[in-house]
Amino acid sequence: MKPAAFAYAKARSLDDAIRLLGEHQGEAKLLAGGQSLIATLNMRLSNPSLLVDINGVAGLDGIRVRNGTVEIGAMTRHVTLEHSSDIAKHAPLIALAMPHVAHPAIRNRGTIGGSLAYADPAAELPACLVALDGEIDVVGAGGKRTVAAGDFFRGLFETALGPHDVLSAVRFPAASAQTRVGFAELARRHGDYAMVGLAAVAKARGKALNDVRLTYFGVGELPVRVRKAEEALAQGSIDDAVNALDLDPTSDIQATGAVKQHLAGVLLRRVAQQLMESA
Ligand SMILES: Cc1cc2nc3c(=O)[nH]c(=O)nc-3n(C[C@H](O)[C@H](O)[C@H](O)COP(=O)(O)OP(=O)(O)OC[C@H]3O[C@@H](n4cnc5c(N)ncnc54)[C@H](O)[C@@H]3O)c2cc1C
Repeated sequence: MKPAAFAYAKARSLDDAIRLLGEHQGEAKLLAGGQSLIATLNMRLSNPSLLVDINGVAGLDGIRVRNGTVEIGAMTRHVTLEHSSDIAKHAPLIALAMPHVAHPAIRNRGTIGGSLAYADPAAELPACLVALDGEIDVVGAGGKRTVAAGDFFRGLFETALGPHDVLSAVRFPAASAQTRVGFAELARRHGDYAMVGLAAVAKARGKALNDVRLTYFGVGELPVRVRKAEEALAQGSIDDAVNALDLDPTSDIQATGAVKQHLAGVLLRRVAQQLMESA
C-alpha cells in the first residue's frame, strides 16, 4: 500500500518544529528515523497532513557524559549507541540491548527519541530507560519539562507527549563501579520485536545486590517493573524471585499470557545470574 497524500516540511530549529506542529493542530507528525512512522503511513494506520522532518535540527543528537549522568539527544541513531565507547563504558545496559533492537538497516536510521515516542510495548529502549530510572526532556510551546521515565509511558503506544511536543533528550545515571546490569529477551527471530524481554539494573554491595530494578517488556501495554521479585532478588534467592514474579502478562499475537508468564520466569533466572555473576 502507499500512504495517503501529505505535505512535508524540514524544520530549521526546535522552535520551528514546535511552531509547525502547533500550526497544524494535531494533524502533523514529526519524522525522525522514519522506521516506524513510514510503515504506519504505508499501512494507512496514520494519515497526518504534514510531516515535520527534524533530521536537520542542530543540537538534537549526541551522547554527553557529565557529572555522573549520561545524556543522549533524541536524534541519536541506534547504530551510534551500538558502537559508542561512551555507551559501552557508562551505559552498559543500553550496550547490551542495542543488538536486539531490530536489524542493522533499521538501526542505521532509527533514533532513541523515535523509539521512546513511539512506545511500542515490546521495544527494548523504553524498558531500559525505566530500569535505569531515567528521565526524558520534552519541549513544547510552553517551554521545556522533564518527565521521569516511569511516568512517561501511559498506555498502549501512549506517552506523556502532547501533539505539539518534541522529545529532545534522555538522561540517566552513569554506571559506577558498583553498577550491575542484565538483559535478555526471547524473540522468534533475532531482531524481531520480543515476545518477552527483561532489562535489569542493580548495585553490588559485596556479594549482595541492592536497588534491584527489573523491567519487563512485551508483557502488556507498558514497560512493567516487578517490585516483589526485585525485593526477593535483593534478598539473594533467584527461586524466591521467580516465585514472587508479580506479572500478569496479556496474550497477544506472539503468545498467550500463560506462555509469557513462563518465559518471564526463564528470563528472570538468566538475568539474575548475569547480575549476580558480576556482583
Ligand atoms: C521490521 C522492523 C523491526 C523492528 N524491530 C524493532 C525491535 O525489535 N525493537 C525496537 O525497539 N524497535 C524495533 N523497530 C522500530 C525501530 O527501532 C524504530 O526505529 C523506532 O521505533 C522508531 O524510531 P524512528 O527514529 O525511526 O522514529 P519514526 O518512525 O520517525 O517516528 C516514530 C513515532 O515517534 C514520533 N517521534 C519521533 N521522534 C520524536 C521526537 N523526538 N519527539 C516526539 N515524537 C517523535 C513520530 O512522530 C512517530 O509518531 C523495528 C522497526 C521495523 C521496521
